[in-house]
Amino acid sequence: MTERVDVAVLGTGLFGAAVAFHLAREGSLRVVAFGTAGDPSRPSGTAASAGILTLQGWDPWDLAIVRESLVEYRWLAEEEGVESVRRNGGVRVARTDEGVRWLQRVQSVLEREGTEATLLGAEAVGELLPFADLGDVRAGLYTPDDSVVHSTAVHEAYLRADRRVGVDLRLGDGPPEVTSTPASEWRIEGDSGVIAGALVVATGAWTKQWLTQLGSPIPLAPFRAQALRARPRPLLAPFPTLHDLDLNLYVRPASLGRVLAGDGTGVQEENPAEWNPDADGPFVEHTLASLSGLFPGLPSIHVEASWAGLCTASPDRFPLVGRVPGGNHLYVATGFNGFGTMRAAALARRLADGIRFDRWEPLRPADPLRFPASLAPFEPHPEFPLESDDEKSWPPREGAASVTAPPSHPAEVGNRVHFRILSVTAEIDRLQWTPLSEWFDPLLPLFAKDAIRTGGTVEVGEEDGLVRGLRLSGSSEGVGSGFTRTRAIAERYLGRMEPGGIYLEEAWRSGGELVEVFAADLRDWVSEERIRNPVRIARPQDFPKMRELMRGELGPGVDTWFATLPRAEETAFLCEVDGRAVGVSWLSRVGAYARGHSFLVHPRFRGLGIGSDLLTARMLWLRSTGGRQVVSEIYDGNAASRTAAERAGMALVGRMYHFRPSQ
Ligand SMILES: Cc1cc2nc3c(=O)[nH]c(=O)nc-3n(C[C@H](O)[C@H](O)[C@H](O)COP(=O)(O)OP(=O)(O)OC[C@H]3O[C@@H](n4cnc5c(N)ncnc54)[C@H](O)[C@@H]3O)c2cc1C
Repeated sequence: MTERVDVAVLGTGLFGAAVAFHLAREGSLRVVAFGTAGDPSRPSGTAASAGILTLQGWDPWDLAIVRESLVEYRWLAEEEGVESVRRNGGVRVARTDEGVRWLQRVQSVLEREGTEATLLGAEAVGELLPFADLGDVRAGLYTPDDSVVHSTAVHEAYLRADRRVGVDLRLGDGPPEVTSTPASEWRIEGDSGVIAGALVVATGAWTKQWLTQLGSPIPLAPFRAQALRARPRPLLAPFPTLHDLDLNLYVRPASLGRVLAGDGTGVQEENPAEWNPDADGPFVEHTLASLSGLFPGLPSIHVEASWAGLCTASPDRFPLVGRVPGGNHLYVATGFNGFGTMRAAALARRLADGIRFDRWEPLRPADPLRFPASLAPFEPHPEFPLESDDEKSWPPREGAASVTAPPSHPAEVGNRVHFRILSVTAEIDRLQWTPLSEWFDPLLPLFAKDAIRTGGTVEVGEEDGLVRGLRLSGSSEGVGSGFTRTRAIAERYLGRMEPGGIYLEEAWRSGGELVEVFAADLRDWVSEERIRNPVRIARPQDFPKMRELMRGELGPGVDTWFATLPRAEETAFLCEVDGRAVGVSWLSRVGAYARGHSFLVHPRFRGLGIGSDLLTARMLWLRSTGGRQVVSEIYDGNAASRTAAERAGMALVGRMYHFRPSQ
């Protein structure tokens, strides 16, 4: 049986998934999207992306595209509960007169278009990136709305949204066979046949081949781009994405305190069936050397992963999105020139509107009809940075599009997510978790079990059997903890707070008090502090005196927790003076992951270095027993805890928020 649909989408990368969503939302069109697993050794463009969204100033139309995409990704991530857009800001730096002039011109365009952009001197740039040595920089252009996304998380969110709005996703192993019918429709033969009134080709680097095969070639050139992820010591808190125009390098913060860096791009055309997915040795060496030069304050930078991916170039570096010249009901989305992540959402929405309403003006600069089909082959010249220094193309044309609101969502999340209270620890082992927290994911099952053991409440929010939210309450301080990436779930948590409020990892609303997150990777950790006070691992017979010390500082609520001890996951470090417990620090551990907690020193014994000794001992033990990552929260701006953590080799890596019930 051959099924009839309105539109078939070929390719389910970021763009294919996004356009399928926009075509099908509000039940407007019947859409089938065909994906292929592809060659597992070669990542798709989406999987390779560095995920940087730069509010560039080379063209108002393109600027509006990036702004719209930002709005949509933020909305989508919060709706679908994936890692959100991080508004970390961006700074482009230049050291030459020419570079400074160029930054000034870009700033004038951004200001004209209502995008905040500030020109800074070297000192102010240094304040944005305190670990970097940018003393020789002449100027920097700071754009606070620049953001980063996890490209594969956004992609996953679109695929989930696709299913929700009724897109028929067919993810096969190989490419389906596509032919046009005498009635100017498209026949797609996968596992079962489909006749589609229109065909969208969004096959990334393969687009040139497929369109040629369909008899409608357009000028395109796939090229390689490379990136790497590195682990600095110390791990870093989020910082503004740095684009160094002179070094031809970008560096953005990545999750878990890492950095992600890349440079411009390859300049030769690649064959999508044969290209090399490994980063070149010279690229890795050069990038690492540039990072070490830029960040001399970091004692070590360890490359964890490096890779290449394919992008597609167009002759004029503008995308090619719209009707295919000479094609019948044939549409394409390609030619992103290395900037497809920041453009996909807005271009996909416009392409869907074009197909639905025959409205093409909003896509005019990307119109594939601007080139003759017989254009001579060309070399990719993607260039880094984005903005052209070509006097002829300056000033950029007028005509920015307005930023539209995110699309309305078809189903209330509250109706999709099922909440239940868990009361026995065995239930925790049966949960199917999704990523909920950057730093605490490996520890969440333990937190949930601890809450049950100490008489607290554990509530999970599940969708299709997958955990999308975890709320723990009943702690000794009367403050709950919530872990979720879904806005509607976070709103529920904020609406049902305990008297002491709730800790959440995202700034879901304003007014949250900051909680600092400190962490270290034990694989790079070097002991720099000499231990001066006697510290040892506590034994169960030490618990009574430790409890007494902790009760004095934290109140009687600690009793219920002590009643669950000893347990294999909990290790305590103890400092005694004359047989009396004067300092403790605890570690909860799940495999290689640990959380330091309940760290305190008796007030009379502060200032003697006992705090940093307790933490250093904890680090030494963790490293010697194969620990990899340790994380701790520091509440109420506790300066002593902060100093002790830093002395022990931990670093500020992020923030959480303490929301209190409104008065
Ligand atoms: C190293 C690197 C860093 C980058 N960094 C950034 C960045 O920081 N910011 C930014 O904006 N952009 C960045 N990009 C660009 C961005 O990743 C891409 O432009 C974007 O992801 C392209 O998405 P896509 O859906 O068009 O293509 P893809 O993600 O490649 O998806 C195409 C899909 O089509 C499938 N396919 C192929 N043939 C067929 C067929 N016949 N039938 C069905 N399916 C088929 C493929 O398997 C693939 O899954 C980067 C790219 C690279 C390589």
